[in-house]
Amino acid sequence: MSGTNKVMIMARACIKCREYVIVEPNNPKNQISIKQFEENHRGHNLVTLDLDEVRNQYIEFEFDVRDL
Ligand SMILES: [Zn+2]
Repeated sequence: MSGTNKVMIMARACIKCREYVIVEPNNPKNQISIKQFEENHRGHNLVTLDLDEVRNQYIEFEFDVRDL
């Protein structure tokens, strides 16, 4: 191993609506976005996966925290 790790960016995605939100573990505002995303997709098929798997196929959910 060379020691160069690819940083994997994770996304929370709704399979039903084909929408996703990027997961940023160190960003407190992101936690609010994810919570809102999960609220919007309550009862849907939510999965956590590599962003690369959804980036070009799903729509990004953009939640503006200032709207709260
Ligand atoms: Zn949904």
